[in-house]
Amino acid sequence: MDLTKLSEQMLRRVPPRLAEAVYARAGRLPRVRRLIDAEHDRILEQAPSVQRWDDPNTYTQIPAEPLDRSTIIDALTELAKAEHDNWSTGRTSGAVYHGGDEHLELLTEAYTLHSQSNPLHVDIWPSAVKLESEVVAMAATMLGADHSNDEIVGTVTSGGTESIILAMKTYRDRAGVRRPEMVIPDSAHAAFDKAAQYLGIRPIRVPVGSDYRADVDAMARAAGRRTIVVAGSAPGFPHGVIDPISELSDMARERGIGFHTDACLGGFVLPWAERLGHTIPAFDFRLPGVTSMSADTHKYGYAAKGTSVILYRGRELRRHQYFVATDWPGGLYYSPTMAGSRPGALVAAAWASLLAMGESGYTEATQAILEVAAAVRRGIAETPGLRVLGDPLWVIAFTSDEVDIFEVMARMTARGWSLNGLHRPPAVHIALTLRHTKPGVAEAFLSDLRAAVTETRAGGHEARTGAAPVYGMAATFPARGAVGELLRRYVDRLYEVRRR
Ligand SMILES: *Cc1c(COP(=O)(O)O)cnc(C)c1O
Repeated sequence: MDLTKLSEQMLRRVPPRLAEAVYARAGRLPRVRRLIDAEHDRILEQAPSVQRWDDPNTYTQIPAEPLDRSTIIDALTELAKAEHDNWSTGRTSGAVYHGGDEHLELLTEAYTLHSQSNPLHVDIWPSAVKLESEVVAMAATMLGADHSNDEIVGTVTSGGTESIILAMKTYRDRAGVRRPEMVIPDSAHAAFDKAAQYLGIRPIRVPVGSDYRADVDAMARAAGRRTIVVAGSAPGFPHGVIDPISELSDMARERGIGFHTDACLGGFVLPWAERLGHTIPAFDFRLPGVTSMSADTHKYGYAAKGTSVILYRGRELRRHQYFVATDWPGGLYYSPTMAGSRPGALVAAAWASLLAMGESGYTEATQAILEVAAAVRRGIAETPGLRVLGDPLWVIAFTSDEVDIFEVMARMTARGWSLNGLHRPPAVHIALTLRHTKPGVAEAFLSDLRAAVTETRAGGHEARTGAAPVYGMAATFPARGAVGELLRRYVDRLYEVRRR
């Protein structure tokens, strides 16, 4: 008997809280434990990323003698070649945002030139701090900094998650309240939960409205005396819709609370969309209540992976982000972000990306992406059985009231598409990038999608590829603790070296 199906059927009849308790209690009995373990193994065997190719070059020990340079490079070339088409052909949601050959060469060259640079040693590499502060300044100007007024300052971080963790730390340390809380819309990125866990902040996730935007009244009700920050997204990762940042930041400002706009996804798109004449609700530092913003250079800034920008209104606020140690035997120590040593080379690549794109390059890229996104959105809306969620621009989430959307996703996986599965409600999204603006990609996506829906409707043999069947179960399974355990085991599997 399929334990998952059985327990799912059982647990579905009891309220979720109780289901969680039943699962947790039963899971401690050795016999049940063994059953659960076996079931986890069975489920995980189906996950695609744990079934790796037969790799002839597996190392679990440093080779006793040095290998030839050509052996090493050949092995890496092999690996890169095998997965090149996964991202270059425009069949992924997000993941690679530019990917053009010339642009990649520029990033690589910038990296190569500064490969040893570490901004921790400002005496050796003053250029690292120059490049970092210029990336920050360019992002600030793009996001509405008024240099005659409060200065918008910031740092470069390793990615959107670090930008968000640092912003939350900054508000926590500035507020200095016991048992601090953050008020965020339910659609806010998981990075806020990560920050909350790491930093000991209680996250208050407030349900979004029927348009998937943050509910201002509900968030105002959720904000109390322990609230250290309120946040919104421009746009949010799941549904790609922009929260009412103006109203939210006013609400926070009236209460003397900081407000963070998470523009990880939209920071390098919305300013240019606005220029192109799209109606973009205010979301940046032109709003007086916005006190910090995150914007990812490594997404639509088209830089190499590993950089993002965190910005603050005023130096006083930014100072709470820094770490300093004055009594360490290793000497006086300071570090502006989470890492100690940092890759100056990635900052150089980000700097090169901003200069190589220019305002006109970003504007043209945005226009191309928004055009293809409009066509994709229309195509999805016109596909019988599918429904677009909210009013998105270029990250388009869709669901179905007629067929199992995760099975549609599985069938898209079988056709080589890598899409994102969403929960509450079950849905799928595609984040459109420059990869999708190549001729034929959008058409191929839509015709595959229509076929996937038709096949799902017809039933037939169950789609057997991809994580979607597992995903569908995990998305709706009431005992979230069990799903969390499954996820942890999945990560374990990913780290196992596959020996021949
Ligand atoms: C991608 C993203 C993040 C997290 O960024 P990482 O670079 O993956 O750490 C946060 N918020 C939003 C809206 C995002 O799209």
